[in-house]
Amino acid sequence: MNQRRARGSSASLSRRHFAFGWLPFLRPKHISLNNARFRIVRHGNSRRHYLLIHGNEETARRVLLRFMETHEGTAFLIEGNTRNVSLEGGELDPNRMFSRAGAEANLKNLNPDWNPQRVNSALAVLDRGRERLLKALLPRDRGVLVALHNNSEAYSVKDEVDISDSVSLREPANPHAFFLCTDRSDFAILAMSPYNVVLQQSKPKEDDGSLSRLAAARGLRYCNLEVALGNADRQFEMLRWLNENVK
Ligand SMILES: [Zn+2]
Repeated sequence: MNQRRARGSSASLSRRHFAFGWLPFLRPKHISLNNARFRIVRHGNSRRHYLLIHGNEETARRVLLRFMETHEGTAFLIEGNTRNVSLEGGELDPNRMFSRAGAEANLKNLNPDWNPQRVNSALAVLDRGRERLLKALLPRDRGVLVALHNNSEAYSVKDEVDISDSVSLREPANPHAFFLCTDRSDFAILAMSPYNVVLQQSKPKEDDGSLSRLAAARGLRYCNLEVALGNADRQFEMLRWLNENVK
């Protein structure tokens, strides 16, 4: 009885969603996976999606918000200003939550005092909400998902060269600014830019739970845009180049 009622009400909810879902003020303004909560900013009807996954990458956040004022697409910006989010009393890197294996390794690494039971209950929380979040984040109709990141001295394109399928280093003196994409056609276009770009199309052996790994495994079009923290003008310029040339 309860189950039938529940099913009936969700059916009427989806009918309502179908009828009125296009009205902008009825579309959700946030989507969450536990404490990883994303603000949704929409502009126009482009199928292109943008993502800020690390809350402490403030340059990328400002660049993306400014970009969305004048460009079409849907942006997802994680709330909070820390790299990691809290999960079941511990910590999790939100760009390691897109697979169970990646999340497990990350939870064990960031919460060394957790016993296996605690790890498993946190993984169960992620398992319940992961596909719902992905359904929102991943663009429809072969649209491209662009994730903006900022790096520090510790990370640059040099760390990706050896594990990439193809590489174009047009700007070797500035290794912190680069694109990392999962689609060979997108790579071919980005390789004509004056910027560094790497292609990671074949899924890496190790499943680190990142969105780029998931996109490679599922054959989706995905592109990371990395620049050094603080370099807003450069990140805006590269984002505009990608937007104008990768369709
Ligand atoms: Zn990042």
